[in-house]
Amino acid sequence: MTITSWAEPYKIKMVELIRMTSRQERAKAIRDAGFNTFLLKSEDVYIDLLTDSGVGAMSDRQWAGMMTGDEAYAGSRNFYHLEETIRSCYSYKYTLPTHQGRGAEHILSKILIRPGDYVPGNMYFTTTRLHQELAGATFVDVIIDEAHDPASDHPFKGNIDLDKFSDLIARVGADKIPYICVATCVNMAGGQPLSLENLRALRGICDHHGIRIMHDMTRVAENAFFIQQREAGYADKTVAEITHELCALTDGATMSAKKDAMVNIGGFLALNDELLYEQACEQVVIYEGLHTYGGMAGRDMEALAIGIRESLCDDHMRARIGQVEYLGQKLIDAGVPIVRPIGGHAIFLDARAILPHLPQEQFPAQALAAALYVESGVRTMERGIVSAGRSPETGENYGSKLELVRMTIPRRVYTQSHMDVAAEAVIDLMERSKQICGLEFTYEPSCLRFFMGRFKVSE
Ligand SMILES: *Cc1c(COP(=O)(O)O)cnc(C)c1O
Repeated sequence: MTITSWAEPYKIKMVELIRMTSRQERAKAIRDAGFNTFLLKSEDVYIDLLTDSGVGAMSDRQWAGMMTGDEAYAGSRNFYHLEETIRSCYSYKYTLPTHQGRGAEHILSKILIRPGDYVPGNMYFTTTRLHQELAGATFVDVIIDEAHDPASDHPFKGNIDLDKFSDLIARVGADKIPYICVATCVNMAGGQPLSLENLRALRGICDHHGIRIMHDMTRVAENAFFIQQREAGYADKTVAEITHELCALTDGATMSAKKDAMVNIGGFLALNDELLYEQACEQVVIYEGLHTYGGMAGRDMEALAIGIRESLCDDHMRARIGQVEYLGQKLIDAGVPIVRPIGGHAIFLDARAILPHLPQEQFPAQALAAALYVESGVRTMERGIVSAGRSPETGENYGSKLELVRMTIPRRVYTQSHMDVAAEAVIDLMERSKQICGLEFTYEPSCLRFFMGRFKVSE
């Protein structure tokens, strides 16, 4: 007998109780939160699909590892375990722990970017682009056009458009491009992978021009799983082998360990070049901590080292992505417009298609996320024009073709029944979507406005 379904490769040892609230309570809660799901209290949320960041469930082995934390200020045993794990699983020689992904982005931007530089990338990520801009660079999106089309079924929507990248080199010169930032399983495109074929071709161009490839490896294992499923020649390779191959094509990486690696806090900057590593160490001691702990406790580095290996198991990844696909397929079957193909960590609802009566200036995705919370207690987040923010040069809103609501699935936390409830909530809301009103800002922070911005219903 061959079993093809993907039951979770674990069983449950401890549970966390959650509470359902009334519609009336939730209507008040969202008004108090300025219609921003980031400002809700977790206690008022039933099923929390806000993010997959830092909300995964650690395994018994990770918890056991926490007890072996060596909290020495310098040279903690857990640091060496983490460094060795990153070297053998991801290929990177040098590791600097940071408090989370943006800590690593900060250090990387400081050591590599000079004012006036350009940093291309396969779509922006909010904190990544901001750190590049704060260091004086201009971000240039070089992802393939299909990534901006929610209906395109391209299997590798995370791919770099090599012509766009070559055009940029021709326009500004390679010496103005310190590195290209390559994200695996591109978050903002809907959790979409890039292919090894594309990355190899990029490596060729970069070697020719002397441009580094810096890897935003937050979701590298999910990308590796998609390569195994979709790219010719990889069906028999393991997620661990493909992950290693992806990383080895790049020169260094920033990692938010709160995603793939299933810890509640942490990240790192990984580098191969010794000189760059020395420069990064100088910055880490200013902004994070001594180079052998950076921004992390010893126990957290231990849990991370163990989480990295767990994240690279084929069984884990099959269940992880199987659960996301289960929710996505339910929505597709009910006719809900979502980004295709279904991504690795989340389902992205196409708010423009669901709320055609709202212009983008009235923040349809923000309004949809708020309404979904009020109707069902399911918390999601906006990934559209509010998240895109404004250009620091012109002050205009960055245009965003994609206007999405993200239903992000935490790793190893919810069951299939929770997915059923979340799907039912969206399908039910679709039928009443005409009643959803647009929003306007009452408070707009100057950067990363999606986190703390406040809104009211438009008149
Ligand atoms: C979350 C994330 C980051 C930033 O990491 P934090 O740990 O939240 O600081 C960077 N890039 C991508 C793709 C992410 O998803």
